[in-house]
Amino acid sequence: MIGVTENLRKIRDLVAKSAVDAQREPGTVKLLAVSKKQPVDKVLEAARCGQRDFGENFVQEGLLKITATSSEDLIWHFIGHLQSNKTQAVAEHFDWVHTIDQLKTAERLSRQRPANLSPLNICLQVNIDDEVAKSGVDAAALPELAQAIAELPNLRFRGLMCLPEYKDTFDAQRPAFAKLRTLAKSLSADGIDTDTLSMGMSGDYAAAIAEGATIIRVGTAIFGPRIVDQRT
Ligand SMILES: *Cc1c(COP(=O)(O)O)cnc(C)c1O
Repeated sequence: MIGVTENLRKIRDLVAKSAVDAQREPGTVKLLAVSKKQPVDKVLEAARCGQRDFGENFVQEGLLKITATSSEDLIWHFIGHLQSNKTQAVAEHFDWVHTIDQLKTAERLSRQRPANLSPLNICLQVNIDDEVAKSGVDAAALPELAQAIAELPNLRFRGLMCLPEYKDTFDAQRPAFAKLRTLAKSLSADGIDTDTLSMGMSGDYAAAIAEGATIIRVGTAIFGPRIVDQRT
């Protein structure tokens, strides 16, 4: 079986190549290793290869991994749906949240962020395909919500995140990512500092990089298939 070390090496090469193809500096694309439903051993192996940023979708699972790897100086990103009764642990233990779509949740995080920590980095999740059942902010509501979050004291508004409908070709994948880039640009034009586009996963990160992704969130291409959880 091919291990995490080899997978990381391959992905770093592909990310660099995608960036160069898009006439971008490879250093402008951050690789976020999505470790949900992966064992701690694999996180530690990635950390030994110099991987610093990790993403988790579930609060309890994330806390276990943060504790188990506390000697490693890692940066933890919360990328799952955040229920308002779980904000305290996220405010205390994570560095980023990518999935905010309500002011109420952001206000709780700001209130609960410990004073000795740097501001919690926040991305707004955008419902980029206008899917009825999907979480995320509608494009029209973005400017007002981004502005309100930018004013909260213990948060730092960083940008936008999306999770588009899956498409299986590069050309079909690009439009949703282009749309997110355009939305971020118009926030910047409105005077709201926006430096992050969190978009692209194992199957579509090349297209996301072509459209300006600054953080790609890659799970299975680094860690292999996830552990199947009986409860889900
Ligand atoms: C699971 C997940 C990923 C990683 O998906 P892969 O296809 O395994 O790369 C990225 N982003 C979010 C929000 C996820 O939930």
